[in-house]
Amino acid sequence: MLLATDLDGTLLAGSQEARYQLYQLISHHPHIQLAYVTGRGLEMVIPLLSDPSLPKPDYIICDVGATIVDGDTLQPIGDIQAEIEHNWPGEVAVASALDAFPNLIRQDVPQERRCSYDCQPEEVTDEVREVISKLGCDLLYSYHQYLDILPRGVNKGTTLQSLIDHLGLAQNEVLIAGDSLNDLAMLSLDYPAVCVGGSEDRLLEHTERESLVYHANEVGAGGIIEAFNQYGFLGEQGVAHETRDDVQPGKSDLVVVYHRLPFEESVENGAVVERQPSSPNGIIPTLLSFFGDGKTGSWVAWSSVSPSTPGYKTRSSVDKVKYPNLAVARVNLTKQEVDIFYKKFSKEAFWPTLHTFWERATFLEEDWQVFLKVNKKFAEQTALEAAENATVWIHDYNLWMVPAYLREMRPDLTIAFFHHTYFPSADVFNVVPWRKEIIGSLLQCDFVGFHIPRQSENFIDVARGVTPLKVIERTNCAPRFLTYGCAVGLEEMTSVIEVNGRRIHLGAHPVGLDLGRITHSLDDPAIQKQIENLKSELEGTKVLLSVERLDYTKGILEKLQAFERLLDEHPELIGEVTLITVCVPAAKEMTIYAELQTEIEQAVGRINGRFAQVGWMPLQFFFRKVPFEQLVAYYAVADVMWITPLRDGLNLVAKEYVATQGMIDGDGVLVLSEFAGAAAELKGAVLTNPHSPHELADSAWQGLTMDKGEAKARLRDAYDAVQYYDIDHWGKDFLDAVERARQSNLAVQHAQMHTADKPSEALS
Ligand code: UDP
Repeated sequence: MLLATDLDGTLLAGSQEARYQLYQLISHHPHIQLAYVTGRGLEMVIPLLSDPSLPKPDYIICDVGATIVDGDTLQPIGDIQAEIEHNWPGEVAVASALDAFPNLIRQDVPQERRCSYDCQPEEVTDEVREVISKLGCDLLYSYHQYLDILPRGVNKGTTLQSLIDHLGLAQNEVLIAGDSLNDLAMLSLDYPAVCVGGSEDRLLEHTERESLVYHANEVGAGGIIEAFNQYGFLGEQGVAHETRDDVQPGKSDLVVVYHRLPFEESVENGAVVERQPSSPNGIIPTLLSFFGDGKTGSWVAWSSVSPSTPGYKTRSSVDKVKYPNLAVARVNLTKQEVDIFYKKFSKEAFWPTLHTFWERATFLEEDWQVFLKVNKKFAEQTALEAAENATVWIHDYNLWMVPAYLREMRPDLTIAFFHHTYFPSADVFNVVPWRKEIIGSLLQCDFVGFHIPRQSENFIDVARGVTPLKVIERTNCAPRFLTYGCAVGLEEMTSVIEVNGRRIHLGAHPVGLDLGRITHSLDDPAIQKQIENLKSELEGTKVLLSVERLDYTKGILEKLQAFERLLDEHPELIGEVTLITVCVPAAKEMTIYAELQTEIEQAVGRINGRFAQVGWMPLQFFFRKVPFEQLVAYYAVADVMWITPLRDGLNLVAKEYVATQGMIDGDGVLVLSEFAGAAAELKGAVLTNPHSPHELADSAWQGLTMDKGEAKARLRDAYDAVQYYDIDHWGKDFLDAVERARQSNLAVQHAQMHTADKPSEALS
C-alpha cells in the first residue's frame, strides 16, 4: 500500500509515542510505501532525509504538488514533473506581476515552480485572482494566511493522482493523510483518507460529507494510526500487532559504550584470560567509579576473541566486589571488522578530517558499510542492556552512528555522547561524504559534549548546514575558558538547539587528570631516584621537553625545525639547553606514519650533526613509549614543556606537566600550541602558533628566559585549573549535565503533549 501524507501537522506531529510507533511501523513493514506530500520546497525536505528517526520516503511530492521526485535518488519521476514545468510561467514573471500588491509578503523559503506569500484573507482580492489567472496559474489560500501560486491545474491532489496512476495502484491500496486546506485536493481524490486530529476547521467542513475521508481524534501520527485501524489496512489486529516489539529492555540504568573493555583480554593456551590493565588510562577508572555505589550498569565494548574460545562469555562481570552490579557486554567483531572500523578506516578517513588534515583522508564506501555494521552491533547490544528510561553514554567518533540505530530501537533512552577528538568547522567536516548521516545520528542524542566551546560551536556550524535548527539557549564561555586569547577560544557557545521538534543540549567538558596517579609516581622512591639522576646528568643545561605520539597532527617536525632555528638565532644557547623528545611510535600496521617517521629521524640527525659538541648533545630523541611514572620524572626536571600540536582535541600531557610542577612546587613553564583544546582552559601557559616557525622558536626562547616570579605565577594559574577540574570532576559534571538535559527534555515533551501541533509558518 501507499501512505501519502502531509508532513507538518500530520506525519511530523502528534505525541512522541505515536510518532515512534508509526515511524517504526512504516520503516519495517514490508508492504508500506511512503510518499511525503508537502507544502515545503525540496530544499526543506532534504534535512528530514538525514533524520534517522523518520521513515525514508519512497516518493516526495513537494512545493504543494509542483515538484515530484524519487525519495532515494531525488530525480524526477516519469514525465510528471516535466508537464508541471511546462505550465509554469517562471518565478520572475509571477513575482513581478505581484509586485503591484505590496500587502502580499513573499515567503523567503526555498521554492520551485510555485511562489508563496503571506497575507490576510481580505488581500486575496478579485484583482489578485485576475492577475494570477492571466499568468496561467492557480491560487490556493490556506490557514487564513498562506497564499500559494501554482501552475494551472497543479496541486497536491493532481500530482498524487499522477503518481498513483504511474504506480498502477488500486483504490484500496492507498491511504492519504493531511491536516490543512492545501491537503484538500488530495483528500478529495477517490481513495481512503484521513484528516488527523487538530486539522484546519475549513478542511473539516469541506470533507464532512466525503464518505472516504475519516476525521481522526488523535493529532498527527496518532491520527494516521487511527486511520490504519479504521480502514483495517493491517488486518484485524491493526497497528498494535504490526509494530515491532522485539527489543526487550535490559536492567542497566547506566550504559557506558566505549570502544575498549575496562580490562585487558587475551587468549592464552586456547582460553580467554582477563587482566587488570598494566597502566589504566585516566578515563576508565572514572567511568567505572559511577558503578561503585552498586548502581546497575553495563559497559559495552568490542572483543575480538572468537565466541567459540573456551571461557568466552558475551556478558561477564568486571569486579564482583567493587562493582557488584556492573556487567561487561561484548560486541563480537571479526578481525577484519576491527581492522577496518577501528584501525584503518577511522584513522585514515575520520582522524585526519577531524584534525583539519582532510587532504590526507581516504573515504571508501565499502569501509563505511563496515563502520555502519559495527556501529549497529554496538547499538543492538546497548539496546539489550539498557533498562527502561536508562541513560546511555557513548564515547567518541568510532561510535558516531550508534545514536541513530539506538534511538530507533529504544526511543525511551536518554542518549549522551562525548566527543574526545577535535571537531572542525563546516568547511573541513563537510568533506566527509557521510556528513548528513553522521550529524543526523548525533542529533538523536539528548546531550552532546566536547572538550571546549569551540569544538561544540564547530559542531553547530556543521549541523546548521545539514538541517534547519533553532537555537534555544546560548551560554557565556568565560570565566572558565579563554575567549579571544587563543585560536580555539570563544566568547559564547550554543548550549541548547531544537531540530525537528527534538531538543539537543551541548556542553564543554575538558577531560581532567587522575591526579592520584601523578602523586603516586612522585612518591615512588624509584622515581625520586630517577629524578635525582636526571638532574645530575642534565646539570648545567636547561631542559626543554616534548612528549607526544608519532602523528602529523602533533607538529613534531615543525618543532624540530623551530629548535634548529632557535639554536641558529641564539648561539648563546649552544651547550646550554637540551631538547628531550619522547615520541611514541604508531602501531606497525599504520603505514601512513612511515614517511613522517623518516623525516623526523632525518631532522634529528641533521640538528645533532650540526650543533653537537663533545659532552653536549642538543637533542635527545626517544622513539619509544615511556612508562607513565618515568614521564613524571621527566616532567619534574623539565624547565620548559614545549607542546606544539598543529591541532589537538585537548592534550593531557600539557596538564600532566602542570600538575607535576605544581605538586613539586616547581617553576616550570608550559609553552603550548594555541590550537590544542587545553589552551582554552590553561590560563598561564605561554601560547604559541605552531604554524609560524618564528613564533614557535620565539615562545621556546620566552619560556627558557622567563624570570622565576612570572613562571611561578603562571604555573599557579594553570595548576589551579588542573587541580580543580580533575577527571572525577569531569565525569560527574558531564553526567550532571546529562541529567539536567533529561529533565528539561521531559518537561518540553510534557508541554508538547498538551498543545495541538499546528504547521509551522515557514515550513507548511
Ligand atoms: N604517554 C605515556 N607514555 C609516553 C607518552 C605519552 O604514558 O611515552 C601518555 C601521556 O602521559 C598522556 C597520554 O599518553 O596521558 C597522551 O595523551 P594526550 O592527550 O597528550 O595525547 P593523545 O595521544 O591522546 O593525542
